[in-house]
Amino acid sequence: MIDLHLHTTASDGQLTPGALVARAHAAGLTTIAITDHDTTAGVSAGRAAADAAGLTFVDGIEITAVHQQRDVHVLGYFFDPGHAGLAQFLQEQRLDRIRRVREMAARLASLGYGVEIEPALEEVRNSGRTAGRPLLADALVGAGHALNRDDAFARLLGRGCPAFVPRRGAGGDEVIRIVHAAGGLASLAHPGLLKDDALVGTLVDAGLDAIEVWHADHSPEQTAHYAATAARFGLARTGGSDFHGEGLHRASQPGAVLLPPAEFDALAARARAS
Ligand code: ZN
Ligand code: FE
Ligand code: FE
Repeated sequence: MIDLHLHTTASDGQLTPGALVARAHAAGLTTIAITDHDTTAGVSAGRAAADAAGLTFVDGIEITAVHQQRDVHVLGYFFDPGHAGLAQFLQEQRLDRIRRVREMAARLASLGYGVEIEPALEEVRNSGRTAGRPLLADALVGAGHALNRDDAFARLLGRGCPAFVPRRGAGGDEVIRIVHAAGGLASLAHPGLLKDDALVGTLVDAGLDAIEVWHADHSPEQTAHYAATAARFGLARTGGSDFHGEGLHRASQPGAVLLPPAEFDALAARARAS
């Protein structure tokens, strides 16, 4: 049983890499990838825990690209997590995330929703973990300004809300290039959330290797549609639960969405050939 999309405390997940691997093992998974946002800080602890539990572990990441002012998530697999160019790129991505969180915190303060985030940002920065809107959401909940993360996003942090600041940063083509430079494969994450089929073609021209067909938020129709899209462009197919933690968005447990073994074999073969 294979799940190639899992988050940890290295970004916005609830479980440490070790605890996530234990959960994945208990759920019957045999092959996993940790795909935190813009960081590989959870990968080495995840690999050690997976080795100890007898799970196959794939180095993974979920990089945020920006396309026409929208976030586009690109998954990377089978890359070298020690690649210097990738590390430098991810460091810049994380610093830009901190800048954006600070801008949004300033907007919140001017709206009367002051939150203290500097200690948390400092800790995130020092550990190579990733800051993002969930950090603001949790601070809003802690200060009594929101009921939970969903409430904070719906009223204040979501796209079009009063504290929202659009992201700046690398385009999809640049993200694909850096994943390739580090020896990896790039897969477009949850295309069903973007609903932008023209973008798939653009990214294929930029060297995209795969698309995420199986995902917690894809309907059966979308899964079929993206499976066919992958076949049409000659792409590999990836999939996973996008588990962040119990009670958080996406799947409620690791392994809630699985990648068929034959698809994993095709992806791994492509990685070996690249
Ligand atoms: Zn996330
Ligand atoms: Fe994502
Ligand atoms: Fe994700």
